[in-house]
Amino acid sequence: MTTLFETYGAFGSVSAGLFGLIVGSFLNVLAHRLPRGESVVSPGSHCPACGAGILARDNIPVVSWLFLGGRCRTCRAPISARYPMMELTNGVLWALVFLKAPQWPDLLGGVFFASACLTLAAIDLEFQILPDRITLTGIAFGILLSFFSKTRSPGSALLGAVVGGGGLFLIAFLYEKIAGQEGMGLGDVKMLAMVGAFLGPVGVLMTVLAASLSGSLVGIAAIALGRGDRKMRLPFGVFLAAGGVAAYFFGDPLLARYRALWP
Ligand SMILES: [Zn+2]
Repeated sequence: MTTLFETYGAFGSVSAGLFGLIVGSFLNVLAHRLPRGESVVSPGSHCPACGAGILARDNIPVVSWLFLGGRCRTCRAPISARYPMMELTNGVLWALVFLKAPQWPDLLGGVFFASACLTLAAIDLEFQILPDRITLTGIAFGILLSFFSKTRSPGSALLGAVVGGGGLFLIAFLYEKIAGQEGMGLGDVKMLAMVGAFLGPVGVLMTVLAASLSGSLVGIAAIALGRGDRKMRLPFGVFLAAGGVAAYFFGDPLLARYRALWP
């Protein structure tokens, strides 16, 4: 089986990265408008400070932000570095997904998954919510694409969604009973079901492991630095997103190494 990278080479990967930059621009719009309940299609992009419309030539991913010195052309209000960062990260992720995906349906699934994780992380960080419009759409899309995938089956996608959603729901339920406080929200549960729909049951377990581990480390570090206490709420979606993307890229090679340990 010839992979996309074998067919299109570096040109394909760079093109995927450029598309990723452009889509990253749209992810900024999603991350800004979805939590505020605004329409994601109209009106066009505008400066959050003065409301001036953003010209097409000032809307070039990363480049425009650098060119304008991180400020609005009209009112000179600073524009957060988060916007070009999001575009750049999405571009890099898309280029990397291209290197990994064997065929078009896997590429489509991979870039959707990476972008969904990135957007959810950005929204969770700012608003502590994980919108259904991303997680539920992701579950449906992940299962649908598994029918066309060369690397995963619909059975694994369904099982992954059930293990992800069901397993985390159980943990959340038990935690609430035992600790007497809410540890995780339903948003986390739906997000993990989405991760399962794309990565299957093993990938979902790796994601939970990576997210819990990194979340605990950050929590401990925050307490050690006097920046928080044990009651502090961490945006768990951010860690799920990072864990999910890590499991997407490194899950299979890690698993192969692990299996090689057992003759
Ligand atoms: Zn402005």
